[in-house]
Amino acid sequence: MDLFKKSPDLSKLSYAQIEDIAKKCALCDLAKTRNKVVFGNGPVPCDLMLIGEGPGADEDEQGLPFVGRAGQLLTKIFESVGIDRNKEVYIANTVKCRPPENRTPKDEETKACFPYLEAQIRIVAPKIILLAGAPACKVILGNEEPMSKIRGKWFKYKDTDISIMPVFHPSYLLRSPSKEKGAPKWLTWQDMIEVKNALDCVKKVKELEK
Ligand code: SF4
Repeated sequence: MDLFKKSPDLSKLSYAQIEDIAKKCALCDLAKTRNKVVFGNGPVPCDLMLIGEGPGADEDEQGLPFVGRAGQLLTKIFESVGIDRNKEVYIANTVKCRPPENRTPKDEETKACFPYLEAQIRIVAPKIILLAGAPACKVILGNEEPMSKIRGKWFKYKDTDISIMPVFHPSYLLRSPSKEKGAPKWLTWQDMIEVKNALDCVKKVKELEK
């Protein structure tokens, strides 16, 4: 397979064309160790988008985002507030190829991969973006504050009306089993209740505009 080593112009391409390019991408060293490119998954367009860090072993094997233990927890978290992950959430990562040993993606890797993410946001056209974990917050918001400080707060994506909320990464929640009031799992549930309310508002406004 011919691999791309120069950044192509994605601005006028369709979702399928961009995914096809990403699957042949070698813009950063992660191409050398990946099995499958994990481009993204979910309805397009979609009002709600979640951006995580990078694929893990299960994702690398299946070519789909959030399908391992953390992904199963994510599905349950959405279910707990009445959001159907498969029908109502588009999911992608800051890098499309698995970092070896699940290390945090390097700056040069997230930078090389950013045009894909930017194109996904343009085409998916979400009204709400959830940033799961610190690397996603750094890439999208340029914010490097601890997750404990910024989770549950609303931000805007650049100069658009897209609302952004940082949330704890499900992998972190797997390591923090307590459901006590104030624990990360409990806080995430509060965040998701707010996200569900915001999503319902988006849907109501769309209904009124019809
Ligand atoms: S992580 Fe992104 S930029 Fe790097 S090779 Fe994979 S698709 Fe290309």
